[in-house]
Amino acid sequence: MAHQLGGEGADDCIACGEPIPAKRRQAMPSAQRCAGCQEKAERRGRQYARG
Ligand SMILES: [Zn+2]
Repeated sequence: MAHQLGGEGADDCIACGEPIPAKRRQAMPSAQRCAGCQEKAERRGRQYARG
């Protein structure tokens, strides 16, 4: 448990638990996932008719 910077973001990735780099949190204060998991989540969130 670390400081919340007043945003909705997380210090650790909610998906894999890895710490989210400060740079990323600064660039995207509401980020709750690391870059890799964010990318996966966005892909999964899109409604691609597949399979
Ligand atoms: Zn992650």
